[in-house]
Order: sequence, then C-alpha cells, then structure tokens
Amino acid sequence: MERGLHDRDRAGVQDFVLLENIQSEEAFIGNLRKRFQENLIYTYIGQVLISVNPYKQLPIYSDNDIKEYRNKHFYEIPPHVYAVTDNAFRSLIEENKGQCVLISGESGSGKTEASKKVLQYIAACSGHQFTVESVKEKLLKSNPVLEAFGNAKTNRNINSSRFGKYMDIQFDFSGTPIGGHILNYLLEKSRVVNQNGGERNFHIFYQLLAGASEEQLKQLELTRSLDHYNYLSDGQNGAVKSIDDAGDFKVVQQAMTVIDFKQSEQNEIFNIIASVLHLGNVSFTEAEGIAKVEKSATVTTIAKLLNVDQKELHAALTNRTIDARGDVVTSPLNRDLAIYARDALAKAIYDRLFTWLVQRLNISLQAKDLRGAINNVMGILDIYGFEIFKKNSFEQFCINFCNEKLQQLFIELTLKSEQDEYRREGIEWVSVEYFDNKVICNLIEEKYKGIISILDEECLRPGEPTDITFLAKLTDKLSKHPHYICHEKSSTQVQKTMGRDEFRLVHYAGDVTYNVNGFLDKNNDLLFRDLKETMSKSDNEIIRSCFPATEYKNKKRPDTAITQFRNSLNNLMEILMCKEPSYIRCIKPNDQQLPGIFDDELVLHQVKYLGLMENLRVRRAGFAYRRTYETFLNRYKSLSKTTWPNFKGSAKEGVRILANDLHYGTDDYRLGETKIFIRFPKTLFDTEDAFQAK
Ligand code: ADP
Ligand code: MG
Repeated sequence: MERGLHDRDRAGVQDFVLLENIQSEEAFIGNLRKRFQENLIYTYIGQVLISVNPYKQLPIYSDNDIKEYRNKHFYEIPPHVYAVTDNAFRSLIEENKGQCVLISGESGSGKTEASKKVLQYIAACSGHQFTVESVKEKLLKSNPVLEAFGNAKTNRNINSSRFGKYMDIQFDFSGTPIGGHILNYLLEKSRVVNQNGGERNFHIFYQLLAGASEEQLKQLELTRSLDHYNYLSDGQNGAVKSIDDAGDFKVVQQAMTVIDFKQSEQNEIFNIIASVLHLGNVSFTEAEGIAKVEKSATVTTIAKLLNVDQKELHAALTNRTIDARGDVVTSPLNRDLAIYARDALAKAIYDRLFTWLVQRLNISLQAKDLRGAINNVMGILDIYGFEIFKKNSFEQFCINFCNEKLQQLFIELTLKSEQDEYRREGIEWVSVEYFDNKVICNLIEEKYKGIISILDEECLRPGEPTDITFLAKLTDKLSKHPHYICHEKSSTQVQKTMGRDEFRLVHYAGDVTYNVNGFLDKNNDLLFRDLKETMSKSDNEIIRSCFPATEYKNKKRPDTAITQFRNSLNNLMEILMCKEPSYIRCIKPNDQQLPGIFDDELVLHQVKYLGLMENLRVRRAGFAYRRTYETFLNRYKSLSKTTWPNFKGSAKEGVRILANDLHYGTDDYRLGETKIFIRFPKTLFDTEDAFQAK
C-alpha cells in the first residue's frame, strides 16, 4: 500500500496537483500509467477522483478496507472510491447538505462498478437495525434487476448499461438509510429489434431462455434455441462463455422476490418478455400492397401472453386507423409498414416495461417516514459517457447532449466551489481562463433557434418532411455557428471527411459527425393508434398500465423523444444543482477489456475529452495544495523546535511558525481562515523530504 507523498517516484503522485509539470499531457499520462502498473487505479485531482479500470479483481474492497476508510480524512490514506464516499457521507451527516456522486466516463470505463462500490460502502457503514437491513438489501438488489433488463453485451463492454441511472438514497437524521428512489433515462430500445455484429440483445432474454424451467418454457411457448428468434440472431452472438445466463436468471428471480415482487407480477413480466421474442418472429407476406400475417399461430401466442384479444391484435398489426378531425379511417398497411409497426410495438412494450420496473422498484424502496430526511439525500449518477463512433446517429446525439449538460454543471459547480473556497478563506482569487461549453448547450437546446427546436419543428410540419429537409434547415439556420459544420459550406478538405447526409458538431470533447438518417423517425417515435388501443385493453395489468387508454384517445401529439429527453435532463440538472457534488471520472485503459494493458493513446483521448487537463489547470491556478492548519501542523510539527515537542498556541500560529522556520518564500504560500495554501508542489516536497529525513 502506498504511504504518503514520498512514494512519488515509484508510484507516481496520488494527487495530480502535486505533479511538477502540469501542462504536459505526457507527464499526466505517465503518472496514470505508473500508478496503474502498481495496481494503484485511483488518483485525485484535488477532490476529483480518477479511476482507471483494472479489468481484474484487486484486493482493495474488503470489509476491512471499508473500515480503514471510515471517518478518515481524504488525504491520510490512498485515493479510493471509499474515501470520496466517506467524505460525501460525512458532509451529509455533519453539515446536513444533500450530496451527489457524479460518475462519468466512456462505456466500459467502470462507472457502474464504481456506483456499486459507493452503494456497498454506504450499506456497510450505516445503521444496523433489522428494518434498515431490509432497506439496504432492497437497494443492493435493485441492481441485478435493472442490469438484467437494462444491460447488454456490446463490443465495448460485456455488461454495458444501455440506460442512464440516477439513484437517490434517503437517510434519517442519524445517517441510517431509510429509502431510495431511482430515475431512469433513455433506454436504448432499438436494441430490442436489432443488434450490431458481435453484440447481444438485453441480458434478460438470454437469461429467461437459459434459466427457465421446462414447465415455464412450455407455458411461454418458448424453445431454448437462440437461433429460433429473429430478435436474438442479428448479433450472431448468443451464448457467451463468460456470462452465466442461467445462473444470473436465478439471481434476478431471487432479487425480485427480495424487492417484494409478487409471483403474479413476475409471471406477467416474463409473459411480456416472451411476447417480445414471439413478436420478432411474426412475418408478413404482401399482395397488392396489402400485408398479411404469415403464421397466425404466432400472433395467437402473443395475444395469449399479453392477454389481449387475438383478432384485434391481428388487425392492429396490419392496419392503421387515422382520426382526422372526427373522420375515422382505417386502411391496410403494406409489408414495410407492417414490419415497422411490429418493431415499434416490440420496442414500446420493452421500453415501457423497463420504466414500469423502475417505478415498481421505487414503490418498494419508498421510505416509510420521510420526516427530517428532506436534505439527507445522497444521489449517485451513473450515466452514459460521451460517444464518438464511426457512424453516429440520433442516440449519440442525445447522449452527447447529455454530456454537454453535465460538463456545464461540472464547470459551474467546480469553478464555483473553487472560488467560494478562496473567498471563504480570504485568499485573493485570480480568475482562470477556461472553455465554457454553454455555447454548445445553446446551439443544441436554445428555444426556436437550437437543433432540438429545428428537429421538432420539422417533425411536426405538415407536408413531407424528411431527414434531408431537416438537414437543409439546420444548415440554413446554423451554418455560421462556430460549433456547427455542414458539408455544403465547408472546404473540399472537410467535405472529404463527411457525407452529404451528415452534420458535424464541435463538442467540448471533440468533433462528432452525425448522420441524419433516421432522426425524424426516432424523434417522432410513432406507435400506431391501433396497437396502443389493443394494448390498453389488455388483461395483463402491467401492459394495461403501460398503455393507458387516455393516450390513444388523446388527440394532442405526445412530446417528441428529444423533447422528453431534454425535459428529463433539465429536471436532473435541477436536482443536481442544489446538491454538493463529488466527481468520479472513469478511464478505460484498453479496448481489449484485459488487465495489465495501458494504451497511452486511448487514455490520452479520454483525458482530453473528460477535460481533466483543464480541470487540473483550474485547480492549480493559484494554489496547488491546501490543508487545514490542524492536519498540516500534525504532520510537520517535528520540523521546528518551536512547535516540537510542545506547542501551546493555535494551529494557525503553529503553521505560521513552521512556514517561517522552513524558509518558505513570501509568495510561496498564503494563510487563510482555516487552511494553509501552498503555491507549488516543490515547496511541499521539500518539506516532506525534510520530514522523511528526520
Ligand atoms: P461502464 O459502466 O463504465 O460501462 P462497467 O462498470 O460495467 O463499465 O465496467 C466494465 C467491466 O470492467 C466490469 O464488468 C468489470 O469486469 C470491469 N471493472 C470495472 N471496474 C472494475 C474494478 N474497480 N475492479 C475490477 N474490475 C472492474
Ligand atoms: Mg455501466
């Protein structure tokens, strides 16, 4: 285990503010690499924790480790997610300030694992009454359920979360957890109907097929063979060696039971999951432009599983009713539209089931008595990181927008707290230049002028709007914006790097080229009225509550997908704004998902787009190092005859004497209200070396 600052040669520095050359990216990466090779995956930038995924189990998460971190000061022990959690937990209890732990990083960087460690720490170090145990167990067991339904194997991560999650843990005045609440964001529902090569559908489908009893399978009319299901065969990647689907299924069922899901609810859930698999196998023939279901037996099975009328479902899959100012007209679908309608239904069912699950979990997690707990909340945000793929679509646009918003929050909160600290301590504050990404947030979300408004306007426009007419509008309105690049008005050199059906945004984290193909469809997120109506009459209670009759009867168009997403994000920002943040920035060391490999280029890329260099620069502007007088005096008091072995004065007085006796230059440090601020690491290292030499 590393000890203090003097290990800096072998194990790098445990806080980047102590790095000698902070401007150099090489020095930054070098420090991370050195530490990674010593299995020291955690490093600070001030209060921000950087975590590099080790891709192997490290012996640093035992009950004993948790005890080690309990009530210790941040700086006394090696950086750890437990230290960050303990710090937040103590502020919550002692200062009664709502907290949030914000975890970011790209897919596979370790966000979800980190969020589980936060939860594990909280569960281990808070109250132990019996009722509390059950709250904690429910909080912990919500994870396997959410992961089964919301995670999938992708090419980047074998257990990739395909939704964003914000979880509040509520405490009573004594710091005992009494309940929780989960908010979910934008599930990647397109995965239900197709997957990229090498990827899988959501875990639960495979778990059910591998883990269900023969009897259950028979009742659901399923076979274990994955090849049989169209919705599972796109990725050509069914059973995976390192995933135990059958075993995981048991864990999920058990977790559901702990969370008080009734047996009848569990049955309804698996009926729904089975119905989605069957839906994928519904195929159509076409004669004279009219689609016909090929095997009506499959539709019969689905109708049985969803508890809806079989004839009605059959008709709804092949017809479309439009209510135009009271004129109700039903017309048959052609084959393409029928396939579209079928897939839209599968996605809607799965997506709404997922949201239902979250709401159901929330009912179980609900605190019985919230008195006095209003501020006693710790939030944990585990949300998709920035995505730059070869081909970027609507989903990446939403995800990257979300990351711009979070970056904005990061800027506001960290710079603000930095300034607040200087002010509180009475230290002169030199303002620092930094890139404020508000301009990009505005480009995306500004009313009337932003990309979202333009997209929504195009979606709602009568006539024949297409993805291409949308792109033309963007270019028309935004081509002068410094963060918007269009094909049409770019140099030939830039034109070579993008297609005519693409636009590029200069995000704070880098340039991303979006292909507009599918933007309108995905944003409209249309499910034909006939299918909604059929579902609303279901005798499966979950389905009926997911498709309320008021929805298909309502003439007003529902909000578009992006508008719903923006509203939920703004709501999230409000929740986070009034809390004290802790940051965990996760880094993925290699693309192979293997231990021991540290790919400099890959890491550098993430360091850049997480804005870590800038973060460090801001943190170091002014003063690199700061400690309370007590902490500083305690460690170094032996370096002056006046403060050692006996000193009667205040801690501040002691530190003043120390600084003097150690010959600190007048510009090397400042004495604030409660802390000493040291400008350069060298001053501190010299002090530490003197301390070690004694
Ligand atoms: P993300 O949520 O950022 O996409 P995950 O948290 O799912 O990434 O991590 C991906 C995988 O990396 C995990 O399944 C696990 O195998 C490994 N991993 C992540 N963090 C750790 C850790 N602290 N210790 C050991 N393995 C880890
Ligand atoms: Mg995850």
